[in-house]
Amino acid sequence: MKELSVKTSQHTQFVDITSRVQEIVRGEGEEEGICHLYVPHTTAGLTINENADPTVSQDIINTMNKVIPFDGDYRHLEGNAAAHIKASLMGSSLSILIKDKKLVLGTWQGIFFCEFDGPRSRKIYVKVQG
Ligand code: ZN
Repeated sequence: MKELSVKTSQHTQFVDITSRVQEIVRGEGEEEGICHLYVPHTTAGLTINENADPTVSQDIINTMNKVIPFDGDYRHLEGNAAAHIKASLMGSSLSILIKDKKLVLGTWQGIFFCEFDGPRSRKIYVKVQG
């Protein structure tokens, strides 16, 4: 199992990790298989979406902030309930198929680490199965 470190710089931020994950997959050398990604955090997540146009991830962030406001009527006393809710909506894991030692992603698809309570130092576990 490999580990990726991500240092976020903003409170809410999507970080494109596609090329870093692809590098691990290439290094593992499996022609075909599955790449599992897992984030061991309760206020961060993972998603696949368009990475060609950066306004797409910004639109996702802006819309989530509207639907799940930071100062809503929450019970969680730590003050970051919105971040927990957003993390659950995105999910904490992804499984991506591998073919010819490459991630099977559509032309416009990229893998994003989703920070909802930054800035922080985060990690992502990566397991490649042949
Ligand atoms: Zn909390």
